[in-house]
Amino acid sequence: MLETHNLNKHFGGLHVTADVSFTLEAGKIHCLIGPNGAGKSTFFRLLLGEHQPSSGKIMFDGVDITRLKPFQRINQGMSVKFQVPGIFSALSVRQNLEIALQRRLEGAELDAEVERLLDFLQLKDVASQLAGNLSHGLKQWLEIGMAISLKPKLLLLDEPTAGMSPEETHMTGEIVKQLNAEGMTVLAVEHDMAFVRQVAHRVSVLHFGRIFAEGTFAEIVADERVAAIYLGQSHD
Ligand code: ATP
Ligand code: MG
Repeated sequence: MLETHNLNKHFGGLHVTADVSFTLEAGKIHCLIGPNGAGKSTFFRLLLGEHQPSSGKIMFDGVDITRLKPFQRINQGMSVKFQVPGIFSALSVRQNLEIALQRRLEGAELDAEVERLLDFLQLKDVASQLAGNLSHGLKQWLEIGMAISLKPKLLLLDEPTAGMSPEETHMTGEIVKQLNAEGMTVLAVEHDMAFVRQVAHRVSVLHFGRIFAEGTFAEIVADERVAAIYLGQSHD
C-alpha cells in the first residue's frame, strides 16, 4: 500500500532519514518504534508531505506521491491524527464530529454516523461538552474520530497513547484493532510496548534514521541488538 524507496532527509549536516526503504502492507497494523531522536516523527512528516525528502521516492497505492502536498495525499486516502482538521476546542464534541463528517455526508446519514462514532469512541456521555474541556484521553479519541471521518484507507497515528493511563492505552488499542478489522490500514509511531504488543502485526525499529530491524512483536523483543539500542533510554 505504501512504499518508500531510498528515502533521505538532511537537516543541514544531520542525516535524519537515512536511505529508508520501507513497505507497509495493506490491511495491517504496523508500528514504528525507536529511541528518542531516531527520526520517527521526521519519517512521518515525510509520509504526510510536511517535509520534502532530500532524495528518494514515496509510493501510495501505486501512485508516486513524493511531490504531492499534504491535502493531496489526504485526497488519495491518507489520514492522520493530530493534523488536518484538528479539534475545535470551543465547539462541542458532537459539533466537531459533524464538521469533520460534513465533507463526506449530509442529512440523516451524517446524523447516524455522528452517533455511531460517539458510541464507538465512548464519547456519548460527553457529546455536548466543549472539546477543549475533555480529558487528555478523550481528546485523543475525538482526534481519532476526526481523522477517520473521511474513511481513509491509511490512518497514520503519531504516538496515539502519549500521556494516557494503561486503561486508556488499552482502549485505544481496541479502537485501532476495530478500525483495522473494518479494513483500515494503520501505521503508528509508538513508545508504549504494551500497545505495540496488543495491536501490531508488524514492527519496524528506526535507529539513527535507518530501519534497524523489522519483524513481529515477538521477534523484535527477542532481538538483543534491539534491546541494546534502548539501554540507557527512558520513555514516556
Ligand atoms: P522522539 O521519540 O523524541 O519523538 P523521533 O524519533 O521522533 O524522536 P525526530 O523528531 O524525527 O525523532 O528527530 C530526529 C532528529 O532530527 C533529531 O536529532 C532532531 O533534533 C532532528 N530534527 C528534527 N526536526 C528537525 C528540524 N526541523 N530541523 C533540524 N533538525 C531536526
Ligand atoms: Mg517524535
